[in-house]
Amino acid sequence: MQDRKIQIAIDGPGGAGKSTVSKAVAARLGIVYVDTGALYRTVGYYVRSQNTDPKDREAVASLLPNINIEVKYIDGAQKVFLNGEDLGDKIRTPEMSMYASAVSAIPAVRAFLLDTQKDIANKNSVIMDGRDIGTVILPNADLKIYLTASAECRARRRYDELVAKGQKVEFSDVLREMNERDENDSTREAAPAVAAKDAILFDNTGMGLEETVDYIVSLVERTI
Ligand code: C5P
Repeated sequence: MQDRKIQIAIDGPGGAGKSTVSKAVAARLGIVYVDTGALYRTVGYYVRSQNTDPKDREAVASLLPNINIEVKYIDGAQKVFLNGEDLGDKIRTPEMSMYASAVSAIPAVRAFLLDTQKDIANKNSVIMDGRDIGTVILPNADLKIYLTASAECRARRRYDELVAKGQKVEFSDVLREMNERDENDSTREAAPAVAAKDAILFDNTGMGLEETVDYIVSLVERTI
């Protein structure tokens, strides 16, 4: 019986389609999809609940001992529990995106979430999406993809996603927040969101998600 774990890393900015693509690839290959952004969003949610400034490094670091994060896979779907509570879509708002981005620049937060991520990858064959998967979390991944698209295209997808969930948002706000978040994520000192040297760059501007999934599955089949 083959026991080698498969590791696929998908990095890239928000709205590139990382999570939809990764979910579809995971389902086709029968491996686990790990959404690492949800972990940063969960820390951001806790920081918000304590009325703490997410950019205040010391204040955020002092809250970490109060946070217990558990990740479970139920029927193939990832659930993240914060101190026993399943937060569901509460971490999916634009406000939580900004909180996640702010706390993710704090080295103590990244260190806090490191073991959780490595542990999941050691126990399962995974496709993990995030910003530093190919560079920090899974530097020896079997396949690394840096998925991106133009800012307008990514903002349009994120806008459609939020509207479909019933959230009231303006396209111009989504675009502005997306640009702000990309800027934060790619220029921070700790694990900036950049493509790993050995990642395959894939710009899917104007491409449907199905086409993107098919292409990535073909890459996986060729490589692994
Ligand atoms: O992927 P998602 O949009 O849910 O990520 C939310 C935020 O979490 C990102 O903007 C980024 O700041 C942070 N993040 C990160 N490293 C990861 C995943 C997410 O810094 N591996």
